[in-house]
Order: sequence, then C-alpha cells, then structure tokens
Amino acid sequence: MAGVLATASTVGVAANVAAQPRFRCDYTYDYDGGRGGVLTPAPQPVTAQFQQICAAIGYNAPLAIFRGAVGNAAADVINGQPVVIYNPDFLNKLYKCALYAPATVLAHEIGHHANADTHWSSQNKHPWTRELGADWISGVALRKLGASLDQAESGIMCFDPYGPGSSSHPNSQQRLQAISDGWHNA
Ligand SMILES: [Zn+2]
Repeated sequence: MAGVLATASTVGVAANVAAQPRFRCDYTYDYDGGRGGVLTPAPQPVTAQFQQICAAIGYNAPLAIFRGAVGNAAADVINGQPVVIYNPDFLNKLYKCALYAPATVLAHEIGHHANADTHWSSQNKHPWTRELGADWISGVALRKLGASLDQAESGIMCFDPYGPGSSSHPNSQQRLQAISDGWHNA
C-alpha cells in the first residue's frame, strides 16, 4: 500500500495535468490552443477590478488572474488552480475603445468559472450554452458595477458587433442578447 501511495505521489503533477478538463474558454473563436506561455501576475489595477467583479456576482472561490500570451482572454484550470489569463494587448485595445470593455471580458471569464464550465461535470454542455451563460453573468456583473447596458455590451461592440460566430461561439448578436438578459436580471 505504501508503495502505491508513493507512486501516486511521485506522478502527482503528471496526473493533475492529465485530469484537467478539456474545456478552456476563449473570449472569441481564435483560441490558440496553448496555455498562455509564461504567466505573469496581473498589475494591481487589473487585479482590483477582477476582485470587484468577483464580489459583484458573489463569487468568492479562489481564482487567480494572470497575463499571458493567449489570443485574447481565457478561463482555464492549471495544476488544479482555476485561473483567468488575459492578453494585455487585447485588453488595452478594448480600453482605448470603451472604458468598461475590458471589465466585460474579465466578467465573461469569471462567469465561466462561476458556471463551473471548466469542471468535468460541464463537459456535456453545448459550447454555445457555456458562452451565452458566461455572457449572461457578464451582464449581471457589469450592471452591479454601475455600468449602463451600452457599457455592458461594449466588449462585444468594440471587438466585433457582427461577428458571425463559430462552432464554439454563438454570433455577436446572440451574445449581446445574453448580456442584455443578464443586465436586466441583475
Ligand atoms: Zn467564453
């Protein structure tokens, strides 16, 4: 028995990697399939806003935020740790477009964790159900932060208001509707 335990302990890291869920959100449909390369801690203003969003929706489970080389932003689980990874260039572009746009993206990624989309039990959800659920949470969060409906929709509007969607993501008009539904239900 001791030998079995020792073996399990020795391969613990590899086992964690193998047990990670297959689903990893991306904000849009160009997920690079990687894990963000080298992850660095988010700067204080981003961390503060991230924590505000978590508090706004009552999500208080451990959740870390990192900068990384993802396509735009992603919800993931790394070595058992739920994380949000964002591309700073992407968020900076959105920030120049609209004040609340970066918050809408962070809220979407937090929404995936709040909806347990990275957990094995959610693997059978349709991808669009996951994305629209995260957008709904984003609408709720933004209203609780004091954003208008236009501001809550600004992430999608800045990125691509007429995005056609894909197998993983519904089109932008459906996503805007989900954000609006969340905002109105907050
Ligand atoms: Zn998503």
